[in-house]
Amino acid sequence: MGDEKFKSTQKFIPIQIAIDGPAASGKTAVGKALSKKIGALFIDTGIMYRGITYSALENKIPIENQSILSKFVEQLTIDFLIDKKNQNSQLLINKINVTKFLKRKDVEFNVSIVSNCKRVRKIMVKKQKQIAQNRSVVMVGRDIGTVVLPEAKIKIFLTASLKTRASRKFQEIKKSKNHSTVNQIILELQRRDKIDSTRANSPLSIPKDSTIIATDSSTITKTVNQIIKIIQKYPAN
Ligand code: C5P
Repeated sequence: MGDEKFKSTQKFIPIQIAIDGPAASGKTAVGKALSKKIGALFIDTGIMYRGITYSALENKIPIENQSILSKFVEQLTIDFLIDKKNQNSQLLINKINVTKFLKRKDVEFNVSIVSNCKRVRKIMVKKQKQIAQNRSVVMVGRDIGTVVLPEAKIKIFLTASLKTRASRKFQEIKKSKNHSTVNQIILELQRRDKIDSTRANSPLSIPKDSTIIATDSSTITKTVNQIIKIIQKYPAN
């Protein structure tokens, strides 16, 4: 698996690549393409927070009550099913596949509230650290370079303007029923950015040892190649 050209220049040693950034900055598309190219596991931590938000809403958990919420999350099992060929992941909560509900509007609206809970974050971070242990991984989220994998050799922070991010999101959802307008998406992204970057617990921030890449006028392939160049410059251990 992975890109032969890349492999031939690298000895195999597990490498952790942390990619952070705001919503729709390109983390998933870039992370997935990069992981395919280098033969690493791709983990999108956003879907874990979305999955527990979906379960909490379905079970009518008062998500503003952090004590009830965290007790609920503690008893959930969270598993990934990963298709090794295309790195697409399915998320199982208590062994039930919830993937198709993760982009639902109520999930998207409430996920930042759920992910602001300190005990919930502790449970998620523990699980994410376990997944990344002793293997090559490309992990994307909001706190990967700062909290989940602070020792990651490669840390990338992706950015894009609000306009670019909203238009990407619009393209992604425009064929779905009850989709939002670009203006509604802009407001929703601003709201989520604000909660994610001002929360007390592991706010979205740029890791100080990261490389910032603006993806506005770049393609997925270009950004991936930029990251591969950074990896190749890094000493082997
Ligand atoms: O990346 P995505 O938009 O799917 O993330 C959904 C939400 O999950 C974010 O807005 C954020 O509130 C939360 N999240 C987080 N930490 C992560 C990944 C996602 O708080 N590592």
